[in-house]
Amino acid sequence: MQEQNIRYSQFHITHPIPDENHIQNVFESFINEYKNFRINVPIGCITDKCSLKQKERSDFSVFCGAGGYLYLYLRIYEFVQTLSPDLQQQCTKGLTDQELSEFYNPETFLSLALQQYQALQPQLKADDDISFFMSNSTIYLLGADLFYYLKDQENFKKCVTEVLSHFGNIVAQSEKYEQELLYGIPGYLYSLLWLHKKYSNEKDQFQLDLSSHIHTICQIIRKFTGNGIMKCDFHNRSYFGAAHGILGVIQMLLLSYESCKEYFHLKDEQGLLQMLESIQNTLDYLIKLYYQYGNLPSSAQNEKNLKLYQFCHGIPGAIAPILKAYQIFNKQDYLNAAIHMCENLYKYGMIKKGYGLCHGIPGNSYGFIQLYRITGSEKLRQYAFQFLQYKKNPHIYNEIKNFPFKDRYNIGISDNPFSLMMGSIGDMCAMMDFINYKRMPGYEI
Ligand SMILES: [Zn+2]
Repeated sequence: MQEQNIRYSQFHITHPIPDENHIQNVFESFINEYKNFRINVPIGCITDKCSLKQKERSDFSVFCGAGGYLYLYLRIYEFVQTLSPDLQQQCTKGLTDQELSEFYNPETFLSLALQQYQALQPQLKADDDISFFMSNSTIYLLGADLFYYLKDQENFKKCVTEVLSHFGNIVAQSEKYEQELLYGIPGYLYSLLWLHKKYSNEKDQFQLDLSSHIHTICQIIRKFTGNGIMKCDFHNRSYFGAAHGILGVIQMLLLSYESCKEYFHLKDEQGLLQMLESIQNTLDYLIKLYYQYGNLPSSAQNEKNLKLYQFCHGIPGAIAPILKAYQIFNKQDYLNAAIHMCENLYKYGMIKKGYGLCHGIPGNSYGFIQLYRITGSEKLRQYAFQFLQYKKNPHIYNEIKNFPFKDRYNIGISDNPFSLMMGSIGDMCAMMDFINYKRMPGYEI
């Protein structure tokens, strides 16, 4: 009877977006990628699986090397462990009954992670790289998590000691290192933030408070960025984006402040206020540039280069720090800018480079979900869904597979098709985060 009333009193048709299909379809895409990964990348592989025309080499970085394989197994472990029973019921497509019970057995991915770690660790050599994305020591960072899950306190401590071993050198010779996220000191700060977030509230032997380390590194970074509108110089240019530029630095500084707020206030109130003011000045300046141009140029020296809509250059890497700033400073302008950016990202972000997180479509899907988590607008989930289904859309996928890029070895294939930042591991992380959000790899904690 009630239904009949609505039928006659309501003039529009209600057409809710069927949410469960989005999750089922994204999960199925994830499983397809995972199966393809397992066929091509053996357990314990230590090389950077690459496209033909290049020579495979030992590479332990999580950016495009074998560190990413360890990262993946731990991410799936975390995904499975924290998936609600309701979501588990929706996430079954693409798996046989036997595969399903293996998938939802947490031991499966813990054991794969352990095998991958045991293959990598004996081959590790000390390197000059320090950042989360590039350093061999990131294997130890991931190892700390692995041994924490395995309740192996001794190995956990060894791993943490290895990660912290860079700290002294960075403090003593900070000018020797880069100042951007991908290779530099802010990239090391990310590893410290990771450990602090995970273990500062732990009890007993796994407890780890890195507030003082984090504060010291922030002070070093602030020396290089300067006050007012901050700068991040890399190869003689002042870059704006996430990977090489000031936005990546701001994101790390905001995460540091958020993680160790009390310590920062106690230690140096004056310095903190100056840092927060400089961050706002810089964001205000970048947002003004964005409204002027419709994107952010790659650097101050190249204001005409506005064509890059990808994590490393342009607005995709701006959304996370602008939203973090909105949460901290409660400025409506920041939320408005992020909303405006997402509409532009939807228009221009389905990029022909296609794969991965650094300069790929799944990397761009993160902006929509980051904003969705604040505004709850279903439209944003729809945008992210479309971006994550890029391989299923023949019009889009054909374009990606046939578009020649000068800086790529093969037409239509990522140079490292199974890597975290340029290949399918990144795609899989974005798909897991669509279903059960954790963090954008290397950018959120
Ligand atoms: Zn990139």
